[in-house]
Amino acid sequence: MTASRDHAVSWTRREVLRTGVVTAGAVALGGCAHVGAPPASPSTEPAGDLDALARRVRGRFLRDGSPLYDDARKVWNLAYDRRPLAMVRCADVDDVQRCVAFARRHRIPVAVRGGGHSYAGFGVADGALQIDLAAFNTVSVDRERRVASVGGGTRIKELLAVILPLGLHTPMGACGEVGVAGLALAGGDTSPRGLFGTACDNVIGAQLVTPDGDVRELGPDRNGDLFWAIRGGGGNFGVVTRLDFRLHPLLTQQRATFALGWNDIAGALRIFGELVQDVPDDARAGFTVDRTMGAVVSCGHYGGAAAVAAFIAKWKNAYRSVQPSIGPSVPTPQGEVWAATSLAVDGAFLTDLTDDRLVDVLARAAIAGRGVGAILLGLSNGVAARIAMTDTAYPLRGRGLSSLLSAEWHRPEDRAPAERWVAEHGAALRPWARRAYVNYLGPSTQERIRDAYGENYPRLARIKAEVDPANLFRFNQNVLPEGRS
Ligand SMILES: Cc1cc2nc3c(=O)[nH]c(=O)nc-3n(C[C@H](O)[C@H](O)[C@H](O)COP(=O)(O)OP(=O)(O)OC[C@H]3O[C@@H](n4cnc5c(N)ncnc54)[C@H](O)[C@@H]3O)c2cc1C
Repeated sequence: MTASRDHAVSWTRREVLRTGVVTAGAVALGGCAHVGAPPASPSTEPAGDLDALARRVRGRFLRDGSPLYDDARKVWNLAYDRRPLAMVRCADVDDVQRCVAFARRHRIPVAVRGGGHSYAGFGVADGALQIDLAAFNTVSVDRERRVASVGGGTRIKELLAVILPLGLHTPMGACGEVGVAGLALAGGDTSPRGLFGTACDNVIGAQLVTPDGDVRELGPDRNGDLFWAIRGGGGNFGVVTRLDFRLHPLLTQQRATFALGWNDIAGALRIFGELVQDVPDDARAGFTVDRTMGAVVSCGHYGGAAAVAAFIAKWKNAYRSVQPSIGPSVPTPQGEVWAATSLAVDGAFLTDLTDDRLVDVLARAAIAGRGVGAILLGLSNGVAARIAMTDTAYPLRGRGLSSLLSAEWHRPEDRAPAERWVAEHGAALRPWARRAYVNYLGPSTQERIRDAYGENYPRLARIKAEVDPANLFRFNQNVLPEGRS
């Protein structure tokens, strides 16, 4: 079974050429901006080479001055207003290889865009060659083997639209617009990970265009180092053009939600901390502080009626001052919708909430963030927690709570307070952080990225040195090639 989305933007390369857009404007090939890595040497190639690339690729080619350039460079996080050298919506793997070859030849960094939902805005970068994978959105399902193969630019909603009607599912994030690969390559904060592991744990194969331009098949028996690295190591190792996911039966979650408001957030957190010590594999739990609603606790169970009733009764008893809303929850392709906005984020993986000082830090953040910031704590339990930390590059193992602090703004004058709230309270949480989910970090220092990966960092750096010694793929939570600092 296959499906693919219609292309919303109908500009073809031929139209672009006809209007003369491709050849318009001179190109400052050396003017690249960099994140967390030393700059590449400036290219000495003439802009004409970029024209040659434009003629050779089959997909849409845009550069500064093209009519669609300004629209196409927008990403979900509007805080990042960046100007790539050019953007190629690759039509096929050959296009990806052409772009990678061009970037390598001219030492131009590559930005990979999947669903465009990176909190850190990594899908677009100043001076980079953007490889846009929106056309890689085919989903095919082998029902017998229970495997879905998805293109590297597929969004969650496109995957779920194909597998949910078949009664199948695989752990994914909450928002259908997010890119499957952008999420799974970094690991995934997903449900039901207690039963099936998180997104990267269900990747059983992949196709990768490496920085040397090779197309490699990855799997348990093929290119094992790279297969290990792409399950948690993000976009550091090249362009993933296909991912194969193990599928599971679609389960209904019985869910209870307790809207607790702003009273005694520390007390609500302490209760949550006790309850999550004993959440079975077939259940999930989360604690949110919404900037307007205050604390909201949710828990859910995927089991039979008796197990569900006992589980929810325990939570009702613990939060007995509030009447929960209870009901079934079945994933939909679209899931939750979060409109594009300007956002600052920080993340940490917390072991538990048994230390009262940590509870106080979180409660203080919640109160100080009223009207500004949101806090999310998602329980990682069961299968996802039991996988050994070094089995994949994804380092958030052992039972824990993945936290995300986020603050948005709509007026320029609100940016500084939002960023300050995130920075201040993110730093306050750090003493309790056992690594971090790299997709929940903003653009980060090397020290932060090393901490986030913990003991998996050295192996990531070794693999990076083998496949991407020039660090062409640096617009991500960048693992520096071993030997570079
Ligand atoms: C509204 C919203 C909801 C979210 N919900 C969740 C959630 O529930 N769970 C969760 O775990 N995360 C969630 N996230 C975080 C999300 O997983 C990351 O931001 C992720 O990087 C987005 O991927 P993308 O493809 O949409 O983004 P992009 O900006 O397109 O890509 C981000 C980076 O991922 C890498 N990348 C993407 N595709 C490829 C590829 N095919 N090959 C190589 N590298 C690639 C590149 O480094 C790229 O720069 C959410 C983010 C937002 C904005």
